[in-house]
Amino acid sequence: MSDVEKLIIIGSGPAGWTAAIYAARANLDPLVFAGRPKSQPSTILPGGQLMLTTEVENYPGFPEGITGPKLMACFEQQAVRFGTRIVTDDGLNPDVSNPDDGHSYKYQDCKSVDFSSRPFKVVAEDDKVYLAHSVIVATGATANWLGLENEQRLARSGGGVSACAVCDGAMPIFRDKELAVVGGGDSAVEEATYLTKFAKKVHMIHRRDELRASKIMAERALSNKKIVMQWNKVVVDVLGDDSIRAVKLKDTKTDKESELPIGGLFVAIGHTPATKFLDGQLDLDSKGYIKLKDPYRSTTNIDGVFAAGDCVDSLYRQAVTAAGMGCKAALDAERWLADQGVH
Ligand code: NAP
Repeated sequence: MSDVEKLIIIGSGPAGWTAAIYAARANLDPLVFAGRPKSQPSTILPGGQLMLTTEVENYPGFPEGITGPKLMACFEQQAVRFGTRIVTDDGLNPDVSNPDDGHSYKYQDCKSVDFSSRPFKVVAEDDKVYLAHSVIVATGATANWLGLENEQRLARSGGGVSACAVCDGAMPIFRDKELAVVGGGDSAVEEATYLTKFAKKVHMIHRRDELRASKIMAERALSNKKIVMQWNKVVVDVLGDDSIRAVKLKDTKTDKESELPIGGLFVAIGHTPATKFLDGQLDLDSKGYIKLKDPYRSTTNIDGVFAAGDCVDSLYRQAVTAAGMGCKAALDAERWLADQGVH
């Protein structure tokens, strides 16, 4: 079957591109479904969540920091340099030499997969069917947002609204300010606790009067003198022109509205893994994350299908951990293909 790909990688965040770099260097000639820009309906955002981040200061190797889109362009260029191919509208590899040319609009998204028999089938959005001996799923997850217009505007412009305190919290714009975290789960507590290292005060805005977070984490937040609980409150608007100056809150019990002046807002209301397109063909946990057969590897319930990055990992969710998982998936795929006699 000469038209069967050795390896198809679905996803183009740190996990997908790292898998592609390793697979390409192992002569697996990987084919990547990189997804569509966020402005168009897609299962995958090309470049993943870092495309929505401004400065990345914790990715090793960049002592001065690097922007999220630039970092992902570097990943992509490195993958292409070793022979990675990308599925595009016109069937050609895009010119990835200029990271600012917005070339991602040409990428084809993956619409569906059929893992019921081998070779596996991966269907592009133009309905073309690609066959593969092995597949790595690295479609990531998206942070849930409140869905407010001003929240999105200030998140896009680097105006002090973020969905990741570990990524953005240490930036100078947040230092010694009063900040707010929305949510009442473990992530919200973790983010609020982390922010207390830099902030004057951190308000935790939660829609109920009891945290969802585990007991130990909840106690950590409640006993932290720098954390102020804003119980029974929802954010109904984010105020500020170029940067955030306050949030408008509504009390869920009394409907009374108030303004809370802050210098930064961190939304920590959960993530949604991009796994719907799998249509139940891989084992998922109750929240939709792909379950690995062996937690130390990248194997799934289907032999020859591997998974990596935030579509698997609801805990760490860092670019560097996703990249590590992508590396493991490529090495697992390489060994599995060799065992199958596919070279
Ligand atoms: P989560 O447990 O689902 O909590 C999400 C929080 O956001 C909940 O408090 C929820 O409120 C709130 N929320 C959801 N939608 C909202 C909306 N539209 N407006 C306002 N608030 C909203 O998510 P998570 O905290 O990201 O945790 C995900 C998983 O990772 C969990 O299993 C968690 O234990 C784990 N985790 C563990 C650690 C750790 O152990 N160190 C750290 C991070 C995450 P309600 O409570 O009212 O539903």
